[in-house]
Amino acid sequence: MDLYEYQGKQLFARFGIPVSEGRVAASAEEARAAAEELGGPVVVKAQVLTGGRGKAGGIKLADTPEEAEASAGDILGMDIRGHTVRKLWIEKASDIAKEYYLSVTFDRGEKKPLFMLTTQGGVDIEEVAEKTPEALARLHVDPLVGFQPYQARWLCFTAGLDDPNEQKQVTAMVGKLYDAFVGADAMLCEINPLIVTPAGEVKALDSKFTVDDNALFRHHDVDEMRDVEAADPQERLAREKDVTYVKLEGEVGILGNGAGLVMSTLDVIDQVGGSPANFCDLGGGGDAQGVVDALEIITSDPQVKSILFNIFGGITRCDEVARGILEALERMTIEHPIVVRLDGTNAEEGRRLLTEASPENLYVEDTMLSAAERVVELAGAR
Ligand code: GDP
Ligand code: MN
Repeated sequence: MDLYEYQGKQLFARFGIPVSEGRVAASAEEARAAAEELGGPVVVKAQVLTGGRGKAGGIKLADTPEEAEASAGDILGMDIRGHTVRKLWIEKASDIAKEYYLSVTFDRGEKKPLFMLTTQGGVDIEEVAEKTPEALARLHVDPLVGFQPYQARWLCFTAGLDDPNEQKQVTAMVGKLYDAFVGADAMLCEINPLIVTPAGEVKALDSKFTVDDNALFRHHDVDEMRDVEAADPQERLAREKDVTYVKLEGEVGILGNGAGLVMSTLDVIDQVGGSPANFCDLGGGGDAQGVVDALEIITSDPQVKSILFNIFGGITRCDEVARGILEALERMTIEHPIVVRLDGTNAEEGRRLLTEASPENLYVEDTMLSAAERVVELAGAR
């Protein structure tokens, strides 16, 4: 789960990382009031779950509350890389002497958290890594040993931070960022830019914070930060109905049992020249309610043209799933052509049930490949 900048900064503050004072605003008037309360120059910042807001015009300095109001009016409603701005963060403006970059993320290859620090902040880190890799200090932390203070000093020296006052503040911040990373079960904590003010004060001017979805059960406060309105309508519905669903871009709706089978179904659809509309795992069950819930979500996506059920009966019996499908089709009206492939336990019985009931829009196929070909052909015909 990605957090907005202001939410990430709340977590930063909780772990002792210095950030500027600010307020959330959802209208130009609220932005003006926030600027009045904060006093002095402020920066009006679009809150969207994507980077590069500065370049896109989503970040503006304002000297007075009137200017903040005007900038807020310009930024609200703006589209930044497909994300509509509905919220702003109004923050006390900082004077910037230097812009650094500090992050900690997972290096899956090494199976360890990876810190990166460079004095070339403010710009894209990918660009620094490509053009001047020697300017980027990288360091893995052994998760079993834990973070060691000398590692923060190593990072500072390697990145070329030579001012003792900065070294002291940045080394402290590296330790706190590791605390935040572990404490919040994060996947990424990034500060770009990490600034040094003309007075020599170091603080986080931006925040990119991603928390592991699988750990949200023990971070209810973070879970509540979720902005349900920003999610896809299908994914929102799936979350409400507790269906394992991921929206994709294509036109073939997919349902299967077991994540591995569903993933390979996506591949087969692609292989026969189609494009999957979603990932949806029915899990172990195949009861009518589960099928109804999943079909409701899949068919609410206007891009979906045809639907493929790919079921492998193991502990789940295919005849049960077939009954579930038929019952679901009685309970709801679906106009999309549906292709069903059943294999495994009681597959013959399942196929017989479907063929006997033979709803008009239902096609039974024997193999995964023929089912994929059929469903893609049906999608093309609509
Ligand atoms: P991003 O473009 O989405 O990464 O948004 P950032 O929060 O990193 O802001 C982009 C840029 O705006 C920063 O690199 C700064 O140069 C500038 N900026 C942001 N806040 C302030 C501020 O308080 N004072 C000044 N002078 N510049 C700021
Ligand atoms: Mn940034």
